[in-house]
Amino acid sequence: MTHSDTQGFNTRAVHAGQTPDPVTGAVIPPVFQTTTFMQDGIGGLRNGYEYGRAANPTRDALQVQLAALEGGKHAYSFSSGLAAEDALIRAALRPGDHIVLGNDAYGGTYRLIDRVLSEWGITNSAVDMADADAVRAAIEANNTKLVWVETPSNPLMKITDIAATAELAHAAGALLVVDNTFASPYLQQPLSFGADVVIHSTTKYIGGHSDASGGAVVVNDDALAEKVGFVQFAVGAVSAPMEAWLTTRGVKTLGVRMDRHSSNATAIAQWLQEQDEVERVYYPGLADHPGHELAAAQMKDFGGMLSVTFKGGAEAAKKIAESTQVFLLAESLGGIESLMNYPSDMTHASVKGTDLAVPENMIRLSVGIEDIEDLIGDLEQAFSALR
Ligand SMILES: *Cc1c(COP(=O)(O)O)cnc(C)c1O
Repeated sequence: MTHSDTQGFNTRAVHAGQTPDPVTGAVIPPVFQTTTFMQDGIGGLRNGYEYGRAANPTRDALQVQLAALEGGKHAYSFSSGLAAEDALIRAALRPGDHIVLGNDAYGGTYRLIDRVLSEWGITNSAVDMADADAVRAAIEANNTKLVWVETPSNPLMKITDIAATAELAHAAGALLVVDNTFASPYLQQPLSFGADVVIHSTTKYIGGHSDASGGAVVVNDDALAEKVGFVQFAVGAVSAPMEAWLTTRGVKTLGVRMDRHSSNATAIAQWLQEQDEVERVYYPGLADHPGHELAAAQMKDFGGMLSVTFKGGAEAAKKIAESTQVFLLAESLGGIESLMNYPSDMTHASVKGTDLAVPENMIRLSVGIEDIEDLIGDLEQAFSALR
């Protein structure tokens, strides 16, 4: 069956773009592991398929699925989240244009904008996105064309009001981009709050199994969609068929995974708060988190990511990061397995020593879907290394 917009999230996740194979009836559409398509006479394309970079049925299936989940009209999938970001910025901006982004933006996003695209005349200001006056001032002082929000942000888990920031951006003629990687479309749908573009690293929750890299751009506007589609085709950082297929498979369980990620992370956040060695727990699900009420209003649940700082400084944080057994010490996030990361030297090493540097006494947890008793047991044994 195909999907309809009135169906629930999980029904769309399972069925959107996943029409059974018309030739064999295979319930799961096959991986079209091909780079080219035979023509029935010159220009006689079957359903428009000609060459793999331009279009591939497996990638199309994923793109339909991603658009349906974000409630967007058009989705384009890429070989990585950063490739998706690069395509969007090339499509939407010209030399002399300016981007306002969060001062705790994903390090790779900042590196792309500040160190690569700056060479092509794109300027930026990194501000505290939770501070509306700072955002407004940065927009007004510049030729801002994109306002770039991550909520929850990485790794500080700051929450930004999507609807209010969309109004600020639109008043200045800028587009609001939301990097929805941390929340996933199951927990938060930025287009419904007025965002113009949703960006994903599908490498994380959407793929969900730490086995396929990818990125996506989702938009409603037809003209912008056409430009993004052209860059996807003309630059060519497309998803490979197998990666697209794995991502498609992962997406089908996004809802059930996010429920478990959220309940496990909530239990761990509460446990961490009770430990003497802990300075502060950064999790929007905690009542004392400054963005708690906003997160409760714009998210369905609080997700699987949390960060924690230690009274014992960098030394204590590193000791914990190196003492767990179930939590694996690794970069990335959003997979079924729990991961532990020391942002200062790992995911955020590229912003060390800049205004975007993250606390050195912080670790970030990507809480997986394992049994909560085993996860807390693992943290208990790791904390014993500090005692
Ligand atoms: C990982 C990540 C990206 C970049 O995605 P890649 O797939 O690694 O290129 C962008 N934004 C956020 C929030 C991320 O976590």
